Amino acid sequence: MKVLILGAGVIGVTTSYYLSKRGFEVTVLDRQAGPGLETSFANAGEVSPGYASPWAGPGVPVKAVRWMLDRHGPLVVRPQADPAMWRWMLQMLRNCTAARYAVNKARMVGIAEYSRDCLRALRADTGIRYDERSQGTLQLFRKQAQLDAIGGDVEVLRQYNVPYEVLDRDGCIRVEPGLAAVRDLFVGGLRLPDDETGDCHMFTQRLEQLAAAQGVRFIYDTAIRSIDVTGDRVAQVSTSRGPFSADAYVVALGSFSPLLLRPLGIDIPVYPVKGYSLTVPIVNANVAPESTIMDETYKVAITRLGDRIRVGGTAEVGDYQVRLSENRRATLDRSLTDLFPGAGDPSRATFWSGLRPMTPDGPPILGRARYANLHLNTGHGTLGWTMACGAARVVTDQIAGVTPEIPVEELSIARYR
Ligand SMILES: Cc1cc2nc3c(=O)[nH]c(=O)nc-3n(C[C@H](O)[C@H](O)[C@H](O)COP(=O)(O)OP(=O)(O)OC[C@H]3O[C@@H](n4cnc5c(N)ncnc54)[C@H](O)[C@@H]3O)c2cc1C
Repeated sequence: MKVLILGAGVIGVTTSYYLSKRGFEVTVLDRQAGPGLETSFANAGEVSPGYASPWAGPGVPVKAVRWMLDRHGPLVVRPQADPAMWRWMLQMLRNCTAARYAVNKARMVGIAEYSRDCLRALRADTGIRYDERSQGTLQLFRKQAQLDAIGGDVEVLRQYNVPYEVLDRDGCIRVEPGLAAVRDLFVGGLRLPDDETGDCHMFTQRLEQLAAAQGVRFIYDTAIRSIDVTGDRVAQVSTSRGPFSADAYVVALGSFSPLLLRPLGIDIPVYPVKGYSLTVPIVNANVAPESTIMDETYKVAITRLGDRIRVGGTAEVGDYQVRLSENRRATLDRSLTDLFPGAGDPSRATFWSGLRPMTPDGPPILGRARYANLHLNTGHGTLGWTMACGAARVVTDQIAGVTPEIPVEELSIARYR
């Protein structure tokens, strides 16, 4: 059976790997010159099921207004004439109740925990290396009020059996010795010891090579123009290199998935939420981070990736452009130089932005959509790297006609009806 995967980001590439391992004949199309060159290129590097939470939650609308007024706040909204943006924001607002948050959180944690286990198994099977570390993540609180307010989060972690540690200042320095020099800047932290870190682009590139060695065909520099249907089936995909056809199709186009699905009458609420990252070479490893530190005040993640530090964060709801903003860079710079002064050389930093493919409720959209041979693997939002292996396993099982190992009915497009 032939499968055509649309998109060679971390989601498309992991899907190709699992499908070909299962015996499918797989081809992957992408407009870029190689794998993982759009949103999967320079994300914050966290494989963090512990932090898998929807952005829509109780109290968020009020916080959002405050963030938008603060120059270093984590959220910017740039209003567009696009009805999809307003629909998406409205749906997000509707998900800001405690009841919706609990449902959405459970769905996200389920797929993220499964995914981390799949990633560990894949690593054991293949020996793939990607500047990975398994040293947990640390949410760092600069203010006592932040530390005092973690009761709700801790309760949720307990409920989902996610191991955690609440640390005082010395506890934080024990796991992140680089913080010793700035001990007066923070009061404590919440550590998730089971979380991991790694370079998503390196992972995607190397997994692409492993998939190619298994027989997957990757075709780059190919713009997909439309998905063409006949009756109740997809018949072909039209591209800048002509038509491609297969027995089944997987849409893994990140933020661009809705644009190709809409003409088929499939309306998925995935909207781009732009984020930024800085990648800084380490010049003094003694004061550099060991793993991920989440600077709660600015909602910025600082991650050690081999001999580099990746600083990622901020959210901009606007258009599909990845143009860079110096204001956003200043927030990332500030967080890094506050917490790890002298660790990296900011003058040699590379600055990047990408579009998180976000659903308004949080979980991705997996599974068959409207046509008998059309499958979705998209909308992974803030944690696509964390969820990639699990989501790819689920979609592979579904195409193979096997029941997935975790319950996934609630991750399908049907939840929006
Ligand atoms: C600043 C930032 C920090 C983040 N940090 C983390 C993190 O720490 N941990 C985590 O788990 N996740 C993180 N994420 C989220 C994660 O990076 C994404 O969820 C994930 O990369 C999405 O992968 P994808 O394959 O769906 O999309 P993409 O990587 O964007 O892949 C989609 C592919 O489709 C191709 N494509 C699109 N349209 C067409 C077309 N018409 N024709 C041909 N090809 C097309 C693109 O070229 C692209 O290669 C972060 C994101 C950002 C922006």
